[in-house]
Amino acid sequence: MSDMGLVVVGAAGRMGQTLIRTIHSVPGAKVSAAIERAGSPHIGRDAGELAGIGIINVPITDDPLTAFAKADGVLDFSTPAASVEFSGYAAQARIVHVIGTTGCSLEDDAAIAAAARHATIVKSGNMSLGVNLLAVLVEQAAKALGPDDFDIEVLEMHHRHKVDAPSGTALLLGQAAAKGRGIDLAEHSVRVRDGHTGAREAGSIGFATLRGGSVVGDHSVILAGTGERITLSHNAEDRSIFARGAVKAALWAHGKKPGLYSMRDVLGLS
Ligand code: NAP
Repeated sequence: MSDMGLVVVGAAGRMGQTLIRTIHSVPGAKVSAAIERAGSPHIGRDAGELAGIGIINVPITDDPLTAFAKADGVLDFSTPAASVEFSGYAAQARIVHVIGTTGCSLEDDAAIAAAARHATIVKSGNMSLGVNLLAVLVEQAAKALGPDDFDIEVLEMHHRHKVDAPSGTALLLGQAAAKGRGIDLAEHSVRVRDGHTGAREAGSIGFATLRGGSVVGDHSVILAGTGERITLSHNAEDRSIFARGAVKAALWAHGKKPGLYSMRDVLGLS
C-alpha cells in the first residue's frame, strides 16, 4: 500500500512544524501539502525547510480545498474557527481529519460532529499516550474515592503563548473524573476562584491554570481527602509526543467509516 498522504494545516505553527518533522520520520505516511491562512508571510516557503529538516518539495499554500481533494487525511492543530472550516472540507473530500485544536465552544463541537457524518474525525484535547492513560487512571480513582471523602482539583501549567484556559487536557482529565463520579462536568466544574468564594462545594471539580515560560504542558489531578492526598501527574517535555499521537491516529483512522472518534479509541483504552 502507498504511504498515507497527509495535509498539515497551520503548518508554520509550533505543532505544525513538529508534525512536518514527525511525519517525515514515520513509515507509512508522507506530507502531501502544507496550509497556512491567506496572507501568512510563510506562503510559498518549503514546509520542510521551515520545520528544519531541509527541502521536501512541499510549498506552503493557502488553498486547503485543492490540497484536501488530493489527500488521504488532514492533521490540524490550529484554531477553533479554522478547525470547524477544515472539518467541512474534510467531509466534502470524505477523508480523515485529526483535530488537536483546543478551546472549541459547544457550537464548534456540534459543527465538527456534523462533519463527522462524512469525514472520519479523531478529536482529542491531548494526543499523547501518557495523558490518555492518565485519564483512565483518573476515572478509576474518582470512582473509587467518592465525593464525601475526596475533593478533586485539576492543576495545569503551559507556556506563555497559550490562548485558551483551562487547557484541553485539563478539561479532558476533568471529564474523566466526572465520568468516574457519574456526574456532568459542566454542572459541577469550578473554573475560576477569586475573592470571598465561600467554602468548597462537595462533589465539585476545580481547575487552576498557570501560564509562563516555555512549559510544553504539565497536568496534575489532585484527590484531596482528610489527612491524605493523591496526585496523578503528567509532564510533557516535547511536542513530538502529540505529533506522534496525531500521526498514529491518522493511520488508525485510514479506511475506518466516517464518525467522531477519540484518542482512547485509537489507543484501545475505551
Ligand atoms: P500556534 O503556534 O499558534 O499554531 C497555530 C497555527 O495555525 C498558526 O501558524 C496559525 O497561523 C495557523 N492558523 C490559524 N488559522 C488558520 C487558518 N484559517 N488556516 C490555516 N492556518 C491557520 O499554536 P500551537 O501551539 O501549535 O497550538 C495549536 C493548537 O493545538 C492549540 O489549540 C493548542 O492548544 C493545541 N494543542 C493540542 C495538543 C493536543 O495534543 N491535542 C497539543 C499541543 C497543542 P497564524 O499564526 O498566522 O494565525
